[in-house]
Amino acid sequence: MHDNDEAADDVADEIIETLRRWVDEVVVPESSALELADEYPTAMAEQMEEFGLFGATIPESHGGLDLDHVTYARVIEELSRGWMSLAGIVNSHLICAKLISRFGTDDQRDRSLPGMATGKLRGCFSLSEPDSGSDAGALRCRAVRDGDEFVINGTKMWVTNGERAGIVALLARVPEGDPSGSSGITCFLVDKTPGKHSGGITVSRKIDKIGYRGLETVEMSYVDHRVPADRVLGGDGLADAASRSGGDGAGHGGGIGNGLRWALAALELGRINVAARGVGVAQAAYDASVAYAKQREAFGKPIAKHQAIAFKIAEMATKLHAARLMTYDAARKADAGERVDLAAGMAKLFASETAAELSLDAMRIHGGNGFSTEYPVERYYRDAPLMIIGEGTSEIQKLVISRALLADD
Ligand SMILES: Cc1cc2nc3c(=O)[nH]c(=O)nc-3n(C[C@H](O)[C@H](O)[C@H](O)COP(=O)(O)OP(=O)(O)OC[C@H]3O[C@@H](n4cnc5c(N)ncnc54)[C@H](O)[C@@H]3O)c2cc1C
Repeated sequence: MHDNDEAADDVADEIIETLRRWVDEVVVPESSALELADEYPTAMAEQMEEFGLFGATIPESHGGLDLDHVTYARVIEELSRGWMSLAGIVNSHLICAKLISRFGTDDQRDRSLPGMATGKLRGCFSLSEPDSGSDAGALRCRAVRDGDEFVINGTKMWVTNGERAGIVALLARVPEGDPSGSSGITCFLVDKTPGKHSGGITVSRKIDKIGYRGLETVEMSYVDHRVPADRVLGGDGLADAASRSGGDGAGHGGGIGNGLRWALAALELGRINVAARGVGVAQAAYDASVAYAKQREAFGKPIAKHQAIAFKIAEMATKLHAARLMTYDAARKADAGERVDLAAGMAKLFASETAAELSLDAMRIHGGNGFSTEYPVERYYRDAPLMIIGEGTSEIQKLVISRALLADD
């Protein structure tokens, strides 16, 4: 190992250690009450700002921490061990930032990333619609060019952080015949004022959820909302090519028609994130189970001394260990610049299913207490299913994995 690597590892360990202490001292004791009240964790979000977590994966050149994928996965794991919603607060923000840093123009990067790195400017990611989720290519939201602007009409569903966001990475369809010469699904960087209304954008409803509470997931409607053409991610293909230097966007001839491909690339970061969330929730379920099994007595001894419970703990620890290794493996491959569709898909599939299984195991081990809101395991049980749905369902992960395995050479 080189000196530089060792120094980087030391910094990463220090970040994780600070976060772990905060999670144990603040998040674990306070999160259940906030979650049950569906209350936004303002003070926790401010502390996350202070830790620099809104800039976790944003390049240092734009004020972020530029953490590698492994460290970022460990950060998400720690947050989720305390309360999975905290990971949700930074995740869609960082997917939006990733799209800008990888595919944006210099102007787009300079304009949005510094504010996003501090957390003062919050981002969200808006692909899903009422009639399209897994089949993202079927989206209907339309963006029609009118001079130097695009006019956006459509309804977007499941927008996490949509109300608080000041910038939306919005996927919309540019109809055929656009003068840029290409057409198709395009990502727009839509600036808005945080709140329920901004221009032609309305937060039409807040979706009530069984878990992942405390942060907003909303439906947003766009009625004749106007966006300047220079807010097409990567440029609109008509402007001066010099404004597109650097980043993966260089040389692509503009962002029109590239939105879905770029969004799916950014979601690979999202999949490692969801896998890490799964590991965090599974760890919390495991820790609670071990503690409870040692102190709860039945038939004259701690339930941990009954083999049925002890074996369940052994199985939980084994699955948790495997989920963590798979997640770090995907993150390491991403850090090495390798293709990660297969590794991230496998990690996301396994870790999310593990979180769901372990949260139910924890509830069984807690008996009746597991069914009460006085113990946090009921929250893990309500939070875990989101991970088998978001950033591609388990079925979609199996499609991604099998396609990678069965691809012709
Ligand atoms: C709390 C929450 C937060 C979210 N946040 C965001 C967000 O911030 N931004 C955003 O854009 N989206 C967000 N989403 C949306 C999420 O990404 C979608 O819910 C997810 O992609 C699944 O899409 P869907 O709900 O339309 O289900 P569908 O696509 O309708 O799927 C229904 C079922 O059919 C299965 N299925 C579909 N196609 C296939 C196939 N080809 N083969 C086999 N099975 C298939 C699915 O696996 C699933 O079991 C969020 C969702 C939730 C619940």
